[in-house]
Amino acid sequence: MTDRKGELATNLAKVEERISVACAAAGRAREEVTLVVVTKTYPADDVRMLAELGVRHVAENRDQDAAPKAAACADLPLTWHFVGQLQTNKVRSVVGYADFVHSVDRARLVTSLSREAVRAGREIGCLIQVALDAGASGRGERGGVAPAGIAELAGLVAGAEGLRPAGLMTVAPLTGEYAGREQAAFERLMDLSTDLRRDHPAANMVSAGMSADLEQAVAAGATHVRVGSAVLGVRPGLG
Ligand SMILES: *Cc1c(COP(=O)(O)O)cnc(C)c1O
Repeated sequence: MTDRKGELATNLAKVEERISVACAAAGRAREEVTLVVVTKTYPADDVRMLAELGVRHVAENRDQDAAPKAAACADLPLTWHFVGQLQTNKVRSVVGYADFVHSVDRARLVTSLSREAVRAGREIGCLIQVALDAGASGRGERGGVAPAGIAELAGLVAGAEGLRPAGLMTVAPLTGEYAGREQAAFERLMDLSTDLRRDHPAANMVSAGMSADLEQAVAAGATHVRVGSAVLGVRPGLG
């Protein structure tokens, strides 16, 4: 094993252990939680090593980086998740490799995703990104729609060809009433998921929790944790 692969294996084992311990503490089966490794800013070689180490779900947040990486890894048995803010001019490219988009937060994006999914002959699982710190605009600073906007967007996704409502995603807010209260934020997301599943029973993914707060997300009931730096290392600069 190369040094890098050994490092990734060690980090993965630590994250696995954290998820297992959190599941046990919450009385949940380990299989209820899917680890999605966020590979943004790291090279395709790392993605390949992760796949060799058993990772099956990876996520990216910028199409410019993700598209070539996904192409270089097209032979691997991976499910690709897009988790970043998505501009409509990037949708055609994203739809080419992403199986799930976690950042659906406006009607225009639904229209665009549907058009491109149909064109590509693909079906995209759409998670609505919820901004628990949305201001008066009804939108979050880092993307996301206010809870009041979820039902309408989910209805649009359900009615759009090439798309299906897959669930909800959030990032723990840094400001507002949930600042510093990750578990409360994730519990709120679970309540919103319960509401959503009344109309869309199959939209049962709850994407919450990152390197710093995956335990709180598992405790709240998350089905997917998105872990980057705890597996790949701290990213230099922004990202
Ligand atoms: C980068 C990123 C993550 C992973 O963050 P880490 O703190 O590195 O685990 C999760 N979700 C989203 C939306 C991200 O952009």
